[in-house]
Amino acid sequence: MQVLLYYLYFPVPDPAEYMQAHRELCERLELRGRILIGREGINGTVSGTIEQTEAYMQALQDDPLTAAIEFKIDPCEEHLFPKLSIKVRDEIVTLGLGREDDIDPNEITGDRLDAQQFYEAMQGDDVVIIDGRNKYEADMGKFKNAIVPDIESFREFPQWFRDNADEIRDKKVLTYCTGGIRCEKLSGFLKREGCSDVSQLDGGIVKYGKDPEVRGRDFEGLCYVFDKRVGVEANFTETRKIISTCVYCDTTVPDYSNCGWPDCNRQFFICPDCQEKQGKYCSEECCDAASS
Ligand SMILES: [Zn+2]
Ligand SMILES: [Zn+2]
Repeated sequence: MQVLLYYLYFPVPDPAEYMQAHRELCERLELRGRILIGREGINGTVSGTIEQTEAYMQALQDDPLTAAIEFKIDPCEEHLFPKLSIKVRDEIVTLGLGREDDIDPNEITGDRLDAQQFYEAMQGDDVVIIDGRNKYEADMGKFKNAIVPDIESFREFPQWFRDNADEIRDKKVLTYCTGGIRCEKLSGFLKREGCSDVSQLDGGIVKYGKDPEVRGRDFEGLCYVFDKRVGVEANFTETRKIISTCVYCDTTVPDYSNCGWPDCNRQFFICPDCQEKQGKYCSEECCDAASS
């Protein structure tokens, strides 16, 4: 089996109609995953057998609307999603600027750097590397020396930038995210806000890890993904390390756990020793709540 990660910004005249046809295609191919469709394009991750996923890729590439789509492909043992979910949304990634002020990456976006160009650019003196994801994703893994905005959702990014613009605007800005989709908007937003030199990692961390020369160099920790795997390896060089640490002690822990208190269920890091001692709870409060 394999999993596909993909997106394309393209004008969708009637998202609801497109979604219906797309649902039929996915159901016929028995794919599972999560797909968002909007006026601005498509954003998806699906798993299936090699045959099913190949047929899906072929169908999208045969459609003139989506012929330019690029797929990131990873092998997997089983389905990575419990079911198929296809939804229509205002935005396929939500920056939340509103229809008038939204960024169309086909009109404004940062320069696209491939893995080798991005690696070289990171070595520069006056660069600022911005993690374009949420904090909980970066807690699991991020580029060495990257700035991680303290945000819980992508829509908080514009405000975060405006609060920190003075330290960023005149530098060479590099942005990255999981598969590249968020950076398309993010880097366009940064340009519109007055940053003059903005580049984005084309294809994101996932493609960076697959580059035969760079092999994920200087990406530290695991790459957070929105499927059953949660974290995947992205660095295949001697610079690989685990950076996430147990919430109770400083032991490094690669994988997230979910808090055992059902009302919380938050993702957090806990080492086996601490779990043994106090149960799988993210905090004293959740531990108390569960035992009362
Ligand atoms: Zn611990
Ligand atoms: Zn909790």
